[in-house]
Amino acid sequence: MKKEKEELVECPQCKEQKEKYWVEKHGVCYWCHDKNAEEKWLEHTKKETVEKGSSFNEDCIICPYCGYVCSEDDLHESTDTYCDGCEKEFHLEVEYTPHYSTSKLEKK
Ligand SMILES: [Zn+2]
Ligand SMILES: [Zn+2]
Repeated sequence: MKKEKEELVECPQCKEQKEKYWVEKHGVCYWCHDKNAEEKWLEHTKKETVEKGSSFNEDCIICPYCGYVCSEDDLHESTDTYCDGCEKEFHLEVEYTPHYSTSKLEKK
């Protein structure tokens, strides 16, 4: 079967030529749609963090006072740290998901 060439159309958000069916269905291209969803999620998470006064297991460091996303540089272990946005001090708990490595024991 001959593969038909994707029809392209300009995405109104990034102004790039993208798959027509996606742009027509969602109003923007796949990448913009993804980016918007991520931003929406982050906005939601920030709001929730401020409301609860804490965040749990997030991909980024969100200040529990103002929702500012702090830079992760040099923060590899649990510590008290300052928010870059409101300059309040908060406790940061760094969690690591365990990874497993296995190897054979050499029989002597
Ligand atoms: Zn786009
Ligand atoms: Zn803050």
